[in-house]
Amino acid sequence: MKIAIVGGGISGLATAFYIRQKNPDVSITLFEKDEQIGGKMKTKELKGFLFEEGSNGFLSNKPDTLNLVKSSGCDDILIRSDDNARIRFIYKDALHQLPESPIAFLKSPLLTCKGKFRVASEYFRAAKKDDKDETLQSFGYRRVGKEMTDTFLDAMVAGIFASSPDKISVKSAFPAVVKLEKDYGGLFRGMIAKRKKEAGPGGVLMSFKGGVSTFIEKLASSTNIEIKTGLHVKKIDKVDEEYTLHVNGKTESFDRVILSTPAYESAQIIKEIDDNLAQMLDSIEYSPISIVGLGYNELSHDLKGFGLLTTSSAKKEVLGVLWDSSIFHDRAPKGKKSLRVMIGGQRSPELAMKSDKELLEIAIRGIKETMGLDVLPDVSYVKRFERGIPNYRVGHLESMGELFEKLKNHRGLYLSSNAYYGVGLNDCVRNSKKMAEQILAEM
Ligand SMILES: Cc1cc2nc3c(=O)[nH]c(=O)nc-3n(C[C@H](O)[C@H](O)[C@H](O)COP(=O)(O)OP(=O)(O)OC[C@H]3O[C@@H](n4cnc5c(N)ncnc54)[C@H](O)[C@@H]3O)c2cc1C
Repeated sequence: MKIAIVGGGISGLATAFYIRQKNPDVSITLFEKDEQIGGKMKTKELKGFLFEEGSNGFLSNKPDTLNLVKSSGCDDILIRSDDNARIRFIYKDALHQLPESPIAFLKSPLLTCKGKFRVASEYFRAAKKDDKDETLQSFGYRRVGKEMTDTFLDAMVAGIFASSPDKISVKSAFPAVVKLEKDYGGLFRGMIAKRKKEAGPGGVLMSFKGGVSTFIEKLASSTNIEIKTGLHVKKIDKVDEEYTLHVNGKTESFDRVILSTPAYESAQIIKEIDDNLAQMLDSIEYSPISIVGLGYNELSHDLKGFGLLTTSSAKKEVLGVLWDSSIFHDRAPKGKKSLRVMIGGQRSPELAMKSDKELLEIAIRGIKETMGLDVLPDVSYVKRFERGIPNYRVGHLESMGELFEKLKNHRGLYLSSNAYYGVGLNDCVRNSKKMAEQILAEM
């Protein structure tokens, strides 16, 4: 049995790991088009500063990534974020600390009294009767009111998905909150009931010594598979039960093929064997996002906290600023500090693809306007993602149901990536493990 995995991001690697864990004999080859594996998980080292191009880490309140870290023998490189990373800020009309307790919420200038009263009244609001999907904005307006949605949810969804509340499906992107309303009749009711049942600490942001690339490399070597980098899989053909991969002018046949590539790449690869499925894959939207890393030999700001997110109403060019060297101390050399600025997303897609010079200028302007920092960095790094994070539109889950139903026409062909059922690392790892179990069961 020969298995091909296309795409060396966390989804491809985790799928390989979980297949190998249960079956030490099967032949697994992973094809990655870049010279380096990791996909959206790559760390760039510049003069002792470590800048993450994409993912910063994962939350410990879900078991998926933690379990993978442990079973792949990567515990020794696991690090937890500084306790001060709990402190977060929102820039609306000025920089305000995100309230951490009900009392702090009541005192916070982020909402008016009317807005706070509207949030509190959520407890008494009737639950939605039907199961129909809606945008995060429509969900938020219904449950917690316009002010709360336009401030907290708007900033949060920009930080997690580079999206906007009116452009993302609540059911696909935030299934847990939809479930609270469905199971308990409302968010407050659900949170109170769950707190009684599941007392315990919330999630802590975790990462790896030396950045996420250290984990990727260690995971890959623990997996014991053949990894071929710098190889772009262009298309696959299907003859009987076998698939032929076309890679850099050569062909190779496999019994099973797992596409752990972004949906639009998977569409190109399968176009000739199923144009209809390819169109469905191609219709999954992605948000553009750019990251600008800034390193300072000296910085007067104490950077006590995780960083800030802006609201759309603030009309700033930046989506947020992560205070990297305060979150994980090894991200900057001792005594130095670093930040990462997020630009673009659904809010201002046109900004994400500006030139390096323009993005650096936007980032410098952004930290001046939001943090009052008027200082040039000693080191800078720009990473652009034209199609960075999948943006699940209303109806996404239903479309995925149809898509995976159609995929059943192609025995031995699988799809596993962040395009379908969750973009966080925990989601990718959980879905990859499920995919590996399905493949093993069908072998
Ligand atoms: C800026 C940013 C910040 C993020 N921050 C966080 C965070 O803090 N926490 C979190 O949980 N998640 C975060 N995420 C999301 C998370 O990083 C991603 O969802 C996850 O890494 C995606 O993994 P993947 O393997 O599904 O896809 P990818 O990482 O996109 O991997 C796909 C791989 O396939 C390769 N490939 C594509 N086409 C081909 C082809 N034809 N042939 C061969 N190889 C091919 C690509 O080069 C790539 O390596 C962030 C994402 C971004 C963009």
